[in-house]
Amino acid sequence: MPESPEVQALVEFLDERIRSRAIADLDVGEFRIIKTRDRPPASLVGARIRRLERFGKHVGFDTDAGWLMIGFGRNGWIRWHAPEDPPSEEPVPEVARIALDDGAVMQLVDMGDFLAVTANVVDAPADVSGIAALGPDPLAQDFDRDAFDRALGTRRKQIKALLQEQTSIAGIGNAYSDEILHRAKISPVVHAALLDGEERERLFHATVDVLRGALSDRRGLRPDQLKQAKVAAMAVHGRGGEACPVCGTTIVDRVFGGASAQLCPHCQPERSAA
Ligand SMILES: [Zn+2]
Repeated sequence: MPESPEVQALVEFLDERIRSRAIADLDVGEFRIIKTRDRPPASLVGARIRRLERFGKHVGFDTDAGWLMIGFGRNGWIRWHAPEDPPSEEPVPEVARIALDDGAVMQLVDMGDFLAVTANVVDAPADVSGIAALGPDPLAQDFDRDAFDRALGTRRKQIKALLQEQTSIAGIGNAYSDEILHRAKISPVVHAALLDGEERERLFHATVDVLRGALSDRRGLRPDQLKQAKVAAMAVHGRGGEACPVCGTTIVDRVFGGASAQLCPHCQPERSAA
């Protein structure tokens, strides 16, 4: 699932290349991704792109004819083709294609078994319900300990689930929640309400450090390199059975509440979640 560091790196990569270009063609091959039927994407043909912006795990194209908002779901992504590198005939799970006036092409793809990519044309980003409700974003400059404490609240909710709840904190998914909790040495199943002041402090710093560190590592990579770079950088996520890079204990897979987590049982000891 694309999460904020990779989506931000994608946005910065594309913004440099497509800012002030006009949309020459916008071809939707899979109409189920369109949620705003009164404003078809074709209404953006001829529009000029002002800039790109990230909202949580979403990407917004700000054009002079409205915003095109893209949600990647679990397995969506954008493939970038510079003017000198047009898409080949090789079949890809393309759901939409945006061609620019300089010959560059962006292919919106969904690699998943179930279609989860969404595209909306709206006047303002907040017109998309999931975006209006986003919590504070740890990659934002103004994200501080107060914002984090407000987001955490005193909820009787398992901390891993809370970190992934977009209305509480924006941009974190399954992978970075595992990484943040490992960095903070906190069990994924402990309830937010039970974290003491020192644990909250550790969790705040881990959240900011993991996400900002990932972004700074990913910046400048091509969109097709980002997923592999993310996977390679994981300390515990997706590494069940391997050694914890901190203490050497075997990383375990834990399934709880319909979700799964990878964690180090030594670094992240469990305690009562009652
Ligand atoms: Zn460990």
